Amino acid sequence: MAKITLNNIAHSYDGGANYALKPLSHAWHDGGAYALLGPSGCGKTTLLNVISGLLQPSEGQLFFDDVDVSALPTERRNIAQVFQFPVLYDTMTVAENLAFPLRNRRGTDKLAAADIQQRVQQAITLLGLEVLANRKARGLSADDKQKISLGRGLVRTDVNAILFDEPLTVIDPHLKWQLRTQLKQIHRQFGHTMIYVTHDQTEALTFADKVVVMLAGEVVQMGTPQELFDAPRHTFVGRFIGSPGMNILPCELQGAEAIIDGYAVALAREYPALAGVIELGIRPEFVRLAGTGGDTGAQSGEGLPVQIVGVEDVGRHRIARARLHSHTLDIIVPEHQPIPAQPRVVFDQSRICIYQNSQLVSWEDD
Ligand code: ATP
Repeated sequence: MAKITLNNIAHSYDGGANYALKPLSHAWHDGGAYALLGPSGCGKTTLLNVISGLLQPSEGQLFFDDVDVSALPTERRNIAQVFQFPVLYDTMTVAENLAFPLRNRRGTDKLAAADIQQRVQQAITLLGLEVLANRKARGLSADDKQKISLGRGLVRTDVNAILFDEPLTVIDPHLKWQLRTQLKQIHRQFGHTMIYVTHDQTEALTFADKVVVMLAGEVVQMGTPQELFDAPRHTFVGRFIGSPGMNILPCELQGAEAIIDGYAVALAREYPALAGVIELGIRPEFVRLAGTGGDTGAQSGEGLPVQIVGVEDVGRHRIARARLHSHTLDIIVPEHQPIPAQPRVVFDQSRICIYQNSQLVSWEDD
């Protein structure tokens, strides 16, 4: 396994100023599980292809540990890749497909037949493929074929990294959950450096130790799932992560208060005067529904007055959509809490994030 270092990597497909990937410098740890997450077209596959060597970046260098691999072709980078659609040999059995990347090794890397057999058996057990081991790949379901593709990446213990490009797209939704969990266990057990491209936040958050959130060719935040939830560094991350995402409301700052449509919201600290577009971010989990009427028992006058325009029951709780003047706001409402007749919302002060021109105003330099 290897540490992967990106040194000012950038890529433009037309060679001009239109960058699919803007200059990136990052160090990804040996044995880390990373997910590249972002909307369609943000540059995830471009970055993955730069790492695998399928694409030569227009700028920058790439290192595996201390070795500059920027000019090396894919086959000399010693990586395993799992693509969106399974790539298998139909006439081979499942076990033969799994053994193929191991049998292909030459010279000093050549493996003894018994070692190959042992690793193939291990992959078969890990992925629950026992009953299919001696079946030809032809005729297997898309789910099973993709499991074998995953297995072909996982049998190799000598690789610098395993790269996954949306590998669960063809997988049945129920099995997706199972495979995600298996991948996570395999990562814990073997400690491969893994990079996983997806536009699905659930996949990214369950699989990765570190999620790399991308937008328009840039990494807007790299952090643990908890960090992305607690302190999104960009309003895009706040909205993109979470179900529903963070509420982002334009406001003005006056000392230790944010003024939203003329209503004051108390903040946990005093902010200096900030230029540009100022917004308040609060996750729906940290907005409390208060107000009078409807047997709520809440104090009147607390919080900001809102109008509830919809309530969706999602099982564990309900999501209320409220209108606050010209803005909409999502609120997580506990299952049995009544909706007040004159609803108001109260924000958990300690969970409010303030954004200046979409960037989190940090407290760290205080
Ligand atoms: P998706 O989730 O849809 O696969 P992505 O985040 O992986 O998207 P990329 O495929 O890396 O994004 O694309 C980034 C940008 O580069 C997009 O604007 C895309 O149109 C452009 N692009 C990708 N491949 C090429 C190519 N071969 N030639 C020209 N432009 C390309």
